Amino acid sequence: MIKTYKILVSGQVQGVGFRPYVYTIAIEFQLKGTVSNNEIGVVVFVSGEEKNIQQFYQKLINFPPPVSKIQDSSIDEIEFQNFDDFKIIPSEKGGKLNLPLTPDFAICEDCVEEIKDASNRRVDYAFTTCVNCGPRWSITQTFPFERINTSIDNFPMCEDCLEEYTNPANRRFHSQTNSCNKCGIQLKLVDNLGEEVYFENIFKTISNLLLEGKIIAIKNTSGYLLCCNAEDKNVVQKLRAKKNRPNKPFAVLYPSLEQLKNEVVLNAKQIKSLTSAERPINIILLKNYSGKVALQSVAPNLNQIGVMLPYTGILQLLANELDFPIVATSGNMHGSPIISENTEALEKLKDVADYFLQHNLKIEHPQDDSVLKFSNKFHQEVLFRRSRGFAPNYLNISVNSKEKILAMGAHLKSAISFFPNENLYVSQYLGNLDNFDVYNRFTETTEGFIQLFEQKPEVILVDKHPLYQSTQFGKELAYKYNAKLIEIQHHKAHLVSILGEYNLWNERVLGVVFDGTGYGDDTNIWGGEFFEYENKKLERIGQVEYFDWLLGDKMSKEPRVSLFALASEEMKPILEEKFSPSEIKNYTYLKSQNKLKTSSVGRLFDAVASLLNITDFNSYEGEAAILLENSILDYNLENCKSYCEVNLKGFSAKEIIQNIYKDIEEGENKDQIIANFLFTLVKSIIVFSKEKGFDKIVLSGGVFQNTTLVDMLLELVPDEIKLYFHKELSPNDENISFGQLMYYLNIK
Ligand SMILES: [Zn+2]
Ligand SMILES: [Zn+2]
Repeated sequence: MIKTYKILVSGQVQGVGFRPYVYTIAIEFQLKGTVSNNEIGVVVFVSGEEKNIQQFYQKLINFPPPVSKIQDSSIDEIEFQNFDDFKIIPSEKGGKLNLPLTPDFAICEDCVEEIKDASNRRVDYAFTTCVNCGPRWSITQTFPFERINTSIDNFPMCEDCLEEYTNPANRRFHSQTNSCNKCGIQLKLVDNLGEEVYFENIFKTISNLLLEGKIIAIKNTSGYLLCCNAEDKNVVQKLRAKKNRPNKPFAVLYPSLEQLKNEVVLNAKQIKSLTSAERPINIILLKNYSGKVALQSVAPNLNQIGVMLPYTGILQLLANELDFPIVATSGNMHGSPIISENTEALEKLKDVADYFLQHNLKIEHPQDDSVLKFSNKFHQEVLFRRSRGFAPNYLNISVNSKEKILAMGAHLKSAISFFPNENLYVSQYLGNLDNFDVYNRFTETTEGFIQLFEQKPEVILVDKHPLYQSTQFGKELAYKYNAKLIEIQHHKAHLVSILGEYNLWNERVLGVVFDGTGYGDDTNIWGGEFFEYENKKLERIGQVEYFDWLLGDKMSKEPRVSLFALASEEMKPILEEKFSPSEIKNYTYLKSQNKLKTSSVGRLFDAVASLLNITDFNSYEGEAAILLENSILDYNLENCKSYCEVNLKGFSAKEIIQNIYKDIEEGENKDQIIANFLFTLVKSIIVFSKEKGFDKIVLSGGVFQNTTLVDMLLELVPDEIKLYFHKELSPNDENISFGQLMYYLNIK
C-alpha cells in the first residue's frame, strides 16, 4: 500500500549536499515527494511503498553525505499525499534560525583532481567547490545556507554551472557555492602600491616570486595569509621583523602530504587530522629533522613546528607549482585580527608584503586557521585554537532553557558563546582584547550573532574581572538589551566547561584548573585551583599556596618577576644576575608592601623557566611555558622525584622553587629538573585526588596545553581514577564563554 511519511533531520545538514543526496536516494527507492531546508534542518515528504520508505530512511540516516553531522531525526506517517515526482524545493525562511551553522570544509579530492586536469573545464579555477567542500561560515550572510544568503550570490551562475546545478546526475547538483572560471570569482595580483602585475600563470608567477625571496599576502577564502619560502632564512627573518613578531612560531604549509612525510614523522591521528575536512594546523614534534625548513627562524628555539596542507583551491593551485614548503601565517600585524578585505590589506600590510593576491569574493566571517597538537606518547588531542573548520557550532550537547543567553568569555583568548534557540554556538577564536582592532572585531562578531539569529539576549554572562574588555562590553549590551547581567568567576567557568563537554552533572568530580591568571572570588589572582563538584555545587577545596603578585601585567611578560616573587633569600645571587641593583631595591620594597596574592601555576612555570635560565622575558603569551616543555623531548619516570609535599589544602610553589634551586646547586641536569617539575604537578594532583577520595578528575586551563604534562598524567594516574581532557574546545581561555553558559545553566 502507498503511504506518505514526513521525515525531519536536524544537525549540520545544510550546505553539505543533503538535499541532492535525499533526491538521489528517493529516486533509487522509487519514492515521490519533496525535500527542503527549513529553519530547523531538512524536511522530507515521501510517498511510496512502506518498505521502500523505511529502507530509504535507514540509508539516509546511516549513510549521510560525508561532511554532514546528524543530531536528530524523526519519521512519522501523515495523511496520504499524491506527488507527481520527487522535487527539491527552494527554502523558505519561515521562522527564526534554529539549526547548526555550517563550518568551512577543506577542498575535497574530486575537486583537487579537477583543477589540475587540463581537460576539465575547471582546470586552474581557484574557487572550485562542490556539495562536499568549500567555504561556508566564511561567506554566510544569513540563513538558510542558500546561495542568495551568501556572498557568492554576487556571481550569477553561467549556463554550464546552472546545468550542473539542475542536473540530478551531476555531483554539483544543488551545490550552493557552484561557480567556474567563466562566471566566478576573479583573482588579481598586485604589488604593494596596488599596481596590477602581468602574468601568464598566476600561481607559477607567485611560486617564482616566493622562490626569489618575496613575501606575498594571499587572500584565501577565510582571510589573508602572509606567505614566504620557509626554507629561506632571510625572508623568514624579514617577515618577523616586518610583522613585529620576534619569536612566536610560524605555521608551515607543505605542498603535499608526501612532501611533509618526507621531512617529518607523522602518526595515523596526525595524518587523519591534517587531511580532514577541518584541516587544522598540527604541531608536530621534530626528532632528527632532516628537511630544509629554516627551523631556527620559523620556530625559534623550538623542536616542533606547526604544519598544514592546502585546504582551498587557491592554496592547492599554488601548492601544485611549489616544490618547497612555505610559511603561511595569519595576515595581520602581531596581535591584530586576521585581515579579510583588499583595501585594508593593502593599507596595513603594504610594508610587510611585496605582492598581494586579491580576489573579489567578500569574506563575511574572517577566521584564522585552527591549531591542535597530539601528545607525543599517548596521542591525546589538545586544541590550541578553535577557528576555521570547527567554528561556529558546538554540537553534541542538549541545553534546556527558554532564555536567550549570551556569554562574553575572557580577555586574552576571546571567543563568545550564544544560546539563542535550541542550539549552542561558540564563535571562532577572536584574539586578545587589549588590541583595539581585535576589540572591534569582537564587538562586531557579538552584534553579528545577535542579528543573525534575530534573538536579543535576555541573559548576559561576563567574567568577574571588572577590567576585562569583554566584561565591560557585556555590561553595555546588558543595558542596551535590558538583559540580566551575571558575573561568573574565571576558573569556575573553566572547570564547568569541561563538565559540560562530558555531561558529568551527576558525578562527584575533582576539578583541577591551572592557568595564567583570573580574577578570584577573594579579589586575589587565581590560577592553581582545586574544586569539588557535586550535585550542582562547586567548592574551592584547594589551591597553590598564595605568593606575591608583583608589578601587574609586567609579571606575565617577564618570567624573572615570577622568580623574584618566589625566590628565597638564598637565591639572591641569581636575582642579582637578572635585575639591576635599583630594580632589586624597588621590587624588594614593593614585595614587602604587597597585598595582592596569586596562586597562578602559569607564573610558577615562568619562575621555573627563569630559574633554569630558559628565558626571563616573554615575547609572546606563554612563551616561557612553551620553551620549558620544549626543553625535554622525553622523560623517564623512574628517575623522577617530586619537589613538594601535598597537603589537604594544596601545595606550595615556593617549596618547589626552593627544591629546584637545591637541585641546580647540586648540579642536577636541566632536563631532569623539568621532568621532575612536571612530575611534581602530576603527583600533587594524584595525591590530592586520593586524599579526598575522587575517582574522576577534569582538567582545564592553559597549563594543560602542555602535552608532556598531559602524557605524564595519562601515564601516572592509576586506572581507578578517570581523567577528562577537553574534547571540542581548547583548555585555554577560549573555553570560558562556553563555561560561563554551562555555569549559569547548571550550578546552583
Ligand atoms: Zn569538492
Ligand atoms: Zn560558471
